[in-house]
Amino acid sequence: MAKTYDTGNIFARILRGEIPCKKVYESDHALAFHDINPQTPTHVLVIPKGPYVDWDHFSAEASEAEIAGLIRAAGEVARLVGAAEPGYRVLSNCGEAAHQEVPHLHLHIFAGRDLGRMIGKGE
Ligand code: 5GP
Repeated sequence: MAKTYDTGNIFARILRGEIPCKKVYESDHALAFHDINPQTPTHVLVIPKGPYVDWDHFSAEASEAEIAGLIRAAGEVARLVGAAEPGYRVLSNCGEAAHQEVPHLHLHIFAGRDLGRMIGKGE
């Protein structure tokens, strides 16, 4: 099913410069900025500049250059914030079951402390 992109979402507004962000990195295909409500000492969001709702949409429809651009950006951001050593976590919530809040694809980069092992088992 085709995904409908909401051009009014908060990250689209950040990309258009309508609201500010604490920028970490920018390239032709990606923008990275600090999360407004950090879950770890370092918590950066990396987003594609194109209008993609989530990982499912992006992985199906983005160009090779856009995909490479986002992945390269995520690695570069982790190095820029000093997280490559001792390590970090990359996570993307995709859709309702993952509680995705903002409907523009974003990779979370968590770092700055021991992150534990994966996620809780839950029910
Ligand atoms: P999600 O639950 O969609 O994976 O994560 C959305 C993330 O976006 C949350 O961690 C939230 O704190 C962050 N966020 C929401 N609104 C803003 C904003 O206006 N600016 C920034 N920098 N982060 C935001």
